[in-house]
Amino acid sequence: MSSRALVTGGAGFIGSHLCAKLLEDEWSVVCVDDLSTGSSSNVSHLEHIGGDSFLPIISDLSKPEWISTAGRYDYDIVYHLASAASPPDYLAMPLETLSVGSTGTLLSLEFAYEHEARFVYTSTSEVYGDPLIHPQVESYWGNVNPVGPRSVYDEAKRFSEALTMARHRKLGQNVGIARLFNTYGPRMRPGDGRVLSNFVVQALTGKPLTVYGDGSQTRSPCYVSDMVDGLLSLGRSDMTGPVNLGNPQEATVLELAHMVIEIIGSESSVEFLPLPEDDPKRRCPDISLARERLGWQPLVDLHTGLEMFIDWMKGNLDGE
Ligand code: UDP
Repeated sequence: MSSRALVTGGAGFIGSHLCAKLLEDEWSVVCVDDLSTGSSSNVSHLEHIGGDSFLPIISDLSKPEWISTAGRYDYDIVYHLASAASPPDYLAMPLETLSVGSTGTLLSLEFAYEHEARFVYTSTSEVYGDPLIHPQVESYWGNVNPVGPRSVYDEAKRFSEALTMARHRKLGQNVGIARLFNTYGPRMRPGDGRVLSNFVVQALTGKPLTVYGDGSQTRSPCYVSDMVDGLLSLGRSDMTGPVNLGNPQEATVLELAHMVIEIIGSESSVEFLPLPEDDPKRRCPDISLARERLGWQPLVDLHTGLEMFIDWMKGNLDGE
């Protein structure tokens, strides 16, 4: 009998790649997703490849309806990814984001515990807020505005980490926490509002690239296949974490804009727009812990990853 995973948010950007990789590795996969930011088209090819071994359940994770269907099976692992992740998405869905990052996390933790499955939580570099130390190490507690607009995401993720750790301490629950840094690649929605999807769509359609602020803020984009490998490594390990997963190749937002223009050979210009409130100024992961404990490190450099992402986006510009 093959191993089985539950993937919450399995029809989302990273979740759908994770489901695909698990199926490739001969796992059975049950995916729970309410399609609020994910899409059936992200996993429709898996129903074909996976045959009976892939079951999508369209349901809001923070309501218990999914449990009776998902609960018919045994599980080895639960990967909890469900959440809006793009700032425009979570700013537009503040209450839903808090709900899936609190009740949704509790229900999936309880589900994993009842099924004696390992629980892997996908937290975020946003737990570091606008960080005062650089690069960010796991021992840093962060600099988060608890009442600002981004708090619906940041604090939900921080609460989920706290809940995961409390259950680990109190019940001995088998858990692992990953902190994901900016991830990009195929199946990001062209209109999801994040920096690289915006820039690539803008450069491909001849529109100005919208740089927020003066573009001196930094991010360290990680290609999605590397991120999925990191999650699988954490899943296979007995590490509790938290552990950073990301690519330390840091670039300013303005550099990212110019890289995208150069690779595409676009005529687009750069337009400067106001910086969103509480936008972190520098972000780069220290991945020493992941290297040491998981033997993991990203393999796709930024230029190569951007080329692959741009190729994919060329054929997918009509998505919303
Ligand atoms: N950003 C930008 N132009 C855009 C979208 C985003 O300059 O069209 C900036 C944003 O202000 C932030 C960085 O790019 O400094 C990354 O933003 P994103 O929304 O991708 O994710 P974040 O890391 O802020 O969660």
